[in-house]
Amino acid sequence: MSQVPDAAEVVIVGGGNAAFCAALAACESGAEVVMLERAPKEESGGNSRFTAGAIRCVYDGVEDLRRLMPDLTDEEVAKTDFGTYSEEQFFDDMGRVTEYRCDPDMVELLVRQSRETLLWMRDKGIRFQPIWGRQAFKVDGRFKFWGGLTVETWGGGPGLVDGLTAAAEKAGIKICYGARALSLVAGDAGVTALRVRQGGRSKELRAKAVVLASGGFEANHEWRARYLGPGWDLAKVRGSRFNIGDGIRMALDIGAAPFGHWSGCHAVGWERNAPEFGDLAVGDAFQKHSYPFSIMINAEGKRFVDEGADFRNYTYAKYGGVILSQPGQFAWQIFDQKVTHLLRDEYRIRQVTKVSAATLEELVGKLDGVKAEQALATIDAYNAAVQSDSPFDPNIKDGRRTEGLTIPKSNWANRLDEPPFEAYAVTCGITFTFGGLRIDREGRVLDSDHEPIAGLYAAGELVGGLFYFNYPGGTGLMAGSVFGRLAGESAASAVAMKRAAE
Ligand SMILES: Cc1cc2nc3c(=O)[nH]c(=O)nc-3n(C[C@H](O)[C@H](O)[C@H](O)COP(=O)(O)OP(=O)(O)OC[C@H]3O[C@@H](n4cnc5c(N)ncnc54)[C@H](O)[C@@H]3O)c2cc1C
Repeated sequence: MSQVPDAAEVVIVGGGNAAFCAALAACESGAEVVMLERAPKEESGGNSRFTAGAIRCVYDGVEDLRRLMPDLTDEEVAKTDFGTYSEEQFFDDMGRVTEYRCDPDMVELLVRQSRETLLWMRDKGIRFQPIWGRQAFKVDGRFKFWGGLTVETWGGGPGLVDGLTAAAEKAGIKICYGARALSLVAGDAGVTALRVRQGGRSKELRAKAVVLASGGFEANHEWRARYLGPGWDLAKVRGSRFNIGDGIRMALDIGAAPFGHWSGCHAVGWERNAPEFGDLAVGDAFQKHSYPFSIMINAEGKRFVDEGADFRNYTYAKYGGVILSQPGQFAWQIFDQKVTHLLRDEYRIRQVTKVSAATLEELVGKLDGVKAEQALATIDAYNAAVQSDSPFDPNIKDGRRTEGLTIPKSNWANRLDEPPFEAYAVTCGITFTFGGLRIDREGRVLDSDHEPIAGLYAAGELVGGLFYFNYPGGTGLMAGSVFGRLAGESAASAVAMKRAAE
């Protein structure tokens, strides 16, 4: 295990995607780089390791995808409608889902640099592939991608973190595992050092520049209740147990400005009996993302949300919070045989809370914690409200909807009438928090006068201003890459200036 040295030019706090991108960019720009990863090596990689590696980027057509994924065969291209995801679409998605609260400068950087940043990562040895399994359904013999999300990293999150680690080691970057940054040492000249603890001992590490990339505060029960609100302490954590807001706290302690949606977070429907934190052996498979083809019922036996309001990747990140606000913080997703072949892989893992039955009467009796009679009445009313004038099509917003219900289902509404019926129990799984630090267009952390704090940079989940209320799937990794790279480059050029002045 690498010991924390006494001094380094650029110190990166964190060991996830944003941290590695910052480290690689700083190193490429000529700086000597040390990374501090709080987790031991076997749990390293933060939330980035828990992901499926889905990453949202601009592409103007299949030629752009071929540049990124030269392994794509002619046959694969022929059987797929990849569509496009233009800058305009990405801007629109960010604006729409965040209710136009997202910071325009940050969104511009994210969108305009997304394509080029993935090519840069590819140059570093990270490989990508189309997300056939999760973002495209085969209809009439052809795959069609939907929801603006087409690319994933080879090997998912573990593949991404392993690839980034290999690239960092190859570049000569020193990675210190089990090394927790505790605080920043700063004076009039800005940040000059950090306090770090490793192996039970704390020490000071001098630094010419520090990049904070240590995640949000989603794994901190107390901060969740304090900032997200009552009840959020009851959410399950989908990923790393190490993201407790350390980087945010350290920066606020030296005068950094808080920014963004501090009472907001990304949270999804997650296996009801999942453990308190993520389990790397299961990864993201506790999530239950096929709900647009279901109806969801709460403890009262009632529906509570439009399951088909939009494509899954524009609703899933806010529906976790909706589930958390239900009595008992849980819901059941109910499917019939017409759609079970569409269920994502995560429905077929061993660790699911699932019931099935030959009749709806029998099924509602098996939904633990639910008022069965009301549940049956809800399903009957839903079945009677389904309009079948538009054909069901999972690849488009098909407009197959209900009519006359207080809570409509706007797309993909099928009657529940083909047994056996299946139901899956979910609760709220928190992914990451939206509030954090304020940065400028160079990735510098700003103080409460909105002046840069010399020597301090930030990237990834702990930066605020990008996400409000909701989130377009696959943007977390892309943001970590774009802003990580930016912060690393800026930190290295500040170091170069300091070197020249010495
Ligand atoms: C189950 C799951 C699935 C997801 N799927 C996707 C997906 O497919 N696509 C997508 O775009 N996003 C996805 N996300 C969100 C995505 O993981 C994050 O947006 C992204 O990985 C954040 O990267 P990061 O580098 O900022 O943080 P992380 O990857 O969480 O890294 C933070 C790092 O900081 C370290 N750390 C914390 N405190 C300290 C300290 N004091 N000192 C030193 N180190 C510290 C942690 O150990 C960790 O290594 C998913 C998240 C989860 C949990």
